[in-house]
Amino acid sequence: MSDSVFDLAVVGGGIIGLAHAYVAAKAGKRVVVIERDIRANGASIRNFGFITVTGQERGESWRLARRTAKVWAEIAGHAGIPIEQRGLYLTARSDEAIAVIGAFLETEMGEDCRLIAPAEFRRIAEGVGGAELKGVLYSPHELRVESRIAIPALTAWLKNGFGVRFRNETVAFDIAPPHIHTSRGVIEAGAAIVCPGDDFVTLYPEQIARYRLRKCRISMLKLASPGFRLPGVLMSDLSLTRYHGYSQLPQARALERKLRAEQPSHFGHGVHLIVAQGTDDHLIVGDSHHYDVLPDPFASEATERDILDEYARAIAQTPPPVLERWTGVYAVAEDRTWLADAPQPRVRLVMVTSGTGASTCFGIAEQVLAEFL
Ligand SMILES: Cc1cc2nc3c(=O)[nH]c(=O)nc-3n(C[C@H](O)[C@H](O)[C@H](O)COP(=O)(O)OP(=O)(O)OC[C@H]3O[C@@H](n4cnc5c(N)ncnc54)[C@H](O)[C@@H]3O)c2cc1C
Repeated sequence: MSDSVFDLAVVGGGIIGLAHAYVAAKAGKRVVVIERDIRANGASIRNFGFITVTGQERGESWRLARRTAKVWAEIAGHAGIPIEQRGLYLTARSDEAIAVIGAFLETEMGEDCRLIAPAEFRRIAEGVGGAELKGVLYSPHELRVESRIAIPALTAWLKNGFGVRFRNETVAFDIAPPHIHTSRGVIEAGAAIVCPGDDFVTLYPEQIARYRLRKCRISMLKLASPGFRLPGVLMSDLSLTRYHGYSQLPQARALERKLRAEQPSHFGHGVHLIVAQGTDDHLIVGDSHHYDVLPDPFASEATERDILDEYARAIAQTPPPVLERWTGVYAVAEDRTWLADAPQPRVRLVMVTSGTGASTCFGIAEQVLAEFL
């Protein structure tokens, strides 16, 4: 394979770029990925690696997530990516939360999901959950990977298994297929997919400005082993007011009113709970949502306190010690979960604008490339 002429240049080595590289390379295209950093260091390695189906917005996002979870399951073994957890357990502490779960189970999105009684959950979750627990939504559709392992592993698999070339520490600053102008010279490629994550200014700033995007900063924690093993990823009541698959149901309004009154600080920091567990038993816990044109990098202690407070309410145990703290940023739009634009012939701009990129990446890439190539 020629090392200098490609069918497709992908700008951005995060999960959206890698998903497009995978789908194109699998279809026999010669692909080069251009990444600014020495390795991808953005949202894609900072996230929970939680491939979420249940809770995604009804319709397209839910369908894309179902497809994406299937692809992750197909490729994980080949790419050397361990599946750290399967399934979701969303714990509910109020009648209002149970009403939302009941309404969700009535929809097509509730297929194969069910409500678990507190006693059954405590048995399978080694005693997790307090006296307030009213029930638990179980979904079998979710997978969880550890992104700091998965993204490098997927990159290496694309390189070694499919001949995808990577140009790292290289910025693409002008695209005019077949010429891709970069900080390390011109790369020849017949077409380009631009997946810039939260960089709104290097390529196509005018196109991106039309979507009135902002950025969301998230706070994350790694906690020591808690001494129990969760049966899957755990969420709680607050998640029912954040994830559109639940929050857009009419029953979610009463729950949100109640939670806003009882936990105003959590709402102020956009806190809800995800507790993921690695095969090493450590927990990845979050998160919060602070929105701005440019969120400042200062994560307040109060935000962390709210995350750990919700952990203590849902798990009914004191959180174990914090081992790591970090923040991450992703692009957000008010009116869409992702976008694919055609800023010029033979170029597509693809951005996930809802904090769901790990869950929808392969479905999006298949859809974009089916129309494009
Ligand atoms: C803390 C956190 C937790 C999250 N949890 C989840 C989760 O559990 N499940 C889920 O589905 N989603 C989650 N998300 C959202 C998900 O991580 C993002 O939607 C996804 O990673 C976006 O991928 P991306 O490839 O578009 O962006 P990025 O990962 O940011 O990658 C973009 C890459 O493009 C490169 N780049 C940009 N412009 C150029 C250029 N001109 N030239 C060269 N390189 C360029 C950047 O260096 C960067 O590496 C989370 C996000 C965060 C921040």
